[in-house]
Amino acid sequence: MEYISTRGSAPALDFEGATLAGLASDGGLYVPREWPRFSADEIAGMAGLPYAELAAKVMHPFVGASLTYERLLELTTQAYGRFSHKAVTPLSQFDEQQWLLELFHGPTLAFKDVALQLLGLLFEEFLSRSDRNLTIVGATSGDTGSAAIDAVAGRANVDIYMLHPKGRVSDVQRRQMTTVLAPNVHNLALENASFDDAQAIVKRMFNDRAMTDRFAIGAVNSINWARLMAQVVYYFAAGIQLGAPHREVAFSVPTGNFGDVFAGHVAARMGLPVARLIVATNVNDILHRALSSGDYSQGQVTPTAAPSMDIQVSSNFERLLFDVGGRDGKALAAQMADFEATRAMQLTNAQREGAATLFQSARADADEMRQTIRWAWENCGELIDPHTACGLFAARDAGIDPAIPVVTLATAHPAKFPEAVERATGQRPGLPTRVGDLFDREEKCADLPGEYDAVAAFVAGHATPKA
Ligand SMILES: *Cc1c(COP(=O)(O)O)cnc(C)c1O
Repeated sequence: MEYISTRGSAPALDFEGATLAGLASDGGLYVPREWPRFSADEIAGMAGLPYAELAAKVMHPFVGASLTYERLLELTTQAYGRFSHKAVTPLSQFDEQQWLLELFHGPTLAFKDVALQLLGLLFEEFLSRSDRNLTIVGATSGDTGSAAIDAVAGRANVDIYMLHPKGRVSDVQRRQMTTVLAPNVHNLALENASFDDAQAIVKRMFNDRAMTDRFAIGAVNSINWARLMAQVVYYFAAGIQLGAPHREVAFSVPTGNFGDVFAGHVAARMGLPVARLIVATNVNDILHRALSSGDYSQGQVTPTAAPSMDIQVSSNFERLLFDVGGRDGKALAAQMADFEATRAMQLTNAQREGAATLFQSARADADEMRQTIRWAWENCGELIDPHTACGLFAARDAGIDPAIPVVTLATAHPAKFPEAVERATGQRPGLPTRVGDLFDREEKCADLPGEYDAVAAFVAGHATPKA
């Protein structure tokens, strides 16, 4: 399997190369040269498989010669063995049509664990083959940081430097990062900085030759193809349980960076009978505007109760524009350059029509999120988090044929956002016992000024050079 850049000029790479590279050298994102496809009989044959085995079957066509099927199965067994539910991503049912896919049974209580637990093992596997070192540098507003840290803590040949804006992540989110004491984990709390400041420091480091000549700087955000690939699996798991390949299924996906819902598009390309993909945003609705009117223009970020979707530039949307817009890298490179200069662009007709065959969208405001959390509690006895509430709001409002089940992806455990859940329901969700002593554990974190030079000096002083 070969991976090509959405901007047409970076060299094609194999799976191992695309996993370690993250972003392509022309600024584009890696996508497979073609989509592998399963027949209806092959999908029917996946029914009832344990999750780790289903994962190896669905992902192996993407991995090609980079890993044998047997080795991939060992890695998926190890990654998903750390989940607290035997089914890894179990379904629950709200009513005749509405279902919930629980993606929060991993170690840090958000769906990002599903991909990052595997990515940590893939990094270790590929780096150890040639005894290279990788220095992961990332910025987080909460969920990515804890999931990435948990996934690489103690792994060979990888160090992680995770920047967060001091005082602007929740106590649960901070402790999930800072109580990991492994020597290869470095938490940096940036003083007087916002998430955007932290992100800008990370971007600058990727372009700083003094750093990149000495260190192999890697990324763990969802521009990494391997993360999306791992997320394709739970669409198959849910779809097959609800009757695929013999019955169509729709999915509603709370999204910001378009990573999770792009994985649903990939599942459909691979042969899963997906009736609709509902893209659910909060009031930071660039994706809703792009899909409903073709207007992809960046607004101001408004803080909401669903902070992991408070995003105004949606990195993975580029992958959809490439795939449904004729796979023309040169044209997309020009379109993206225009967007980067003006912070606005109009989708082409081909892109709009291509997206409309599968996607529809909706946005939920603060009231709609609160009412949906209350509906789930009062009618179904389920506590859901505010991100999931955007998805369920959109699912119930989508007008899907009643014969088709609609699955909302539950992206976080309600205990990760207890205040919003309590405000809507009067119930305060408790942390699951497996993370119960979080508030008694020792924390390790370096406070730094929110300035590039201080962060670069810290990383240079602690990281292991590439080879
Ligand atoms: C990251 C995150 C999202 C958004 O996922 P994308 O892949 O960026 O679309 C939604 N909900 C929660 C809880 C998250 O942590």
